[in-house]
Amino acid sequence: MAVLVFSESDNGKYKKSSFEAISYGRDLADQLSTTCIAVSIGNKGEENLGQYGAHKEINVQGDVYQDFNPNTYAKTLSELSSNNDGQIIVLSQTYTGKSIAPILAIKQDAALVTGIIGMVNTSDGFKVKTTVFSNKAVAHVQVNQANKILSIIPNSYQVNIYESKSEIISHNINVSKKDLNTKILKTEKETGKIPLTEAELVISAGRGLKAAENWNLVEDLSEALGAATACSKPVSDMEWRPHSEHVGQTGITIKPNLYIAAGISGAIQHLAGVSSSKVICVINTDPEAPFFKAADYGIVGDAFDILPRLTKRIREIKG
Ligand SMILES: Cc1cc2nc3c(=O)[nH]c(=O)nc-3n(C[C@H](O)[C@H](O)[C@H](O)COP(=O)(O)OP(=O)(O)OC[C@H]3O[C@@H](n4cnc5c(N)ncnc54)[C@H](O)[C@@H]3O)c2cc1C
Repeated sequence: MAVLVFSESDNGKYKKSSFEAISYGRDLADQLSTTCIAVSIGNKGEENLGQYGAHKEINVQGDVYQDFNPNTYAKTLSELSSNNDGQIIVLSQTYTGKSIAPILAIKQDAALVTGIIGMVNTSDGFKVKTTVFSNKAVAHVQVNQANKILSIIPNSYQVNIYESKSEIISHNINVSKKDLNTKILKTEKETGKIPLTEAELVISAGRGLKAAENWNLVEDLSEALGAATACSKPVSDMEWRPHSEHVGQTGITIKPNLYIAAGISGAIQHLAGVSSSKVICVINTDPEAPFFKAADYGIVGDAFDILPRLTKRIREIKG
């Protein structure tokens, strides 16, 4: 039996969430006295995944992987898992991971556990901790099926560093264009921005900012700090900001080291996506705003006054 880890990359670089998933896979493999195999599909990242715990890395190439398609990726991972006795497959719960995992579970007749936030306990069966009800509760799940797909919340597991390097094996899989049931006609990538899911620092704002044209206050602070920008749902619904910035229950889940929220009330649906941030700083004119209960630091004040002052001070400190 081996632990397979899907390793996602973008533009020749592995995502940080992949390193977390590999470290998770390796710690689990060590517990089970087995091997951790990292799998990359299509163009792989430049880093050697042995540094993060993979005993070996399999890279699968082919024209069919030019654009991401969950069916071809799931089929590839499923075949590799069968060929390598990979009863356990670990993925990060990114957009890509989320779209592959259910298809893979069906193909492998596997138990799928999503929202994982802790290492598996194998002392008495196979038990794992997950978040449920929009991060309001934790469930302890016992997995009884032999084949298991484990989907880990990004930023919930540490990245381990090893001295070793892993062997990279190229592999061909019998996946053809016939396996593509959809065709991507065009992709438009955002450029020059820090991806929200990867960001260590995030500056976010809500309806308290009053209008789209006031977002320069958020952008100035994010530029000064080297942070990504985010927003509440109504803000993206009103098209003040793109939907890719919407965080919360129906948006992206993030876990940065610092989350600064200006003019956001702190509704539970918003908190569901940000409450795991290491440090939360809230700026709100209303001292009774619910967000203050979840905050490590609270500033009762006007975002139109506080944000420019913060930006100015940070620029002064950074010289
Ligand atoms: C099924 C469902 C799913 C949802 N999913 C999400 C989700 O994923 N993400 C999400 O964000 N919401 C989500 N919502 C909406 C959520 O319930 C709230 O309505 C929303 O988060 C409120 O956004 P807001 O805080 O920007 O706006 P408001 O609730 O209007 O709050 C604005 C805040 O700004 C403060 N303020 C006003 N002026 C200033 C100023 N000058 N300076 C500083 N502070 C000021 C006010 O005191 C207030 O607290 C969902 C709702 C439902 C029903």
